[in-house]
Amino acid sequence: MGRRKEAVSLHLKEEVAMGVFIRVEIDEKKCLGLAKSGECIRICPVNIFEGKEGRVVVKEENEDECTLCHLCLSKCQPSAIAIKKLYE
Ligand code: SF4
Repeated sequence: MGRRKEAVSLHLKEEVAMGVFIRVEIDEKKCLGLAKSGECIRICPVNIFEGKEGRVVVKEENEDECTLCHLCLSKCQPSAIAIKKLYE
């Protein structure tokens, strides 16, 4: 395993140890922003996303409430959202 992978793996283990089990990420290069989309904000049943200065951002304090329903993934046309389980 390379150094970067080891560092990422260690970081994920630390997050799991802190009780964070799900990571929701937005690829800012792909995201269309509030002016053109924002569908994820409307569809997420547990309020993971919010608008900030024209961009869609993840509310980190809500991140672990994600139910893995994948509604946001189905609505995000440019596939800018990634949902990662930090546990097996
Ligand atoms: S998978 Fe469901 S609960 Fe999780 S961020 Fe997407 S819409 Fe919200």
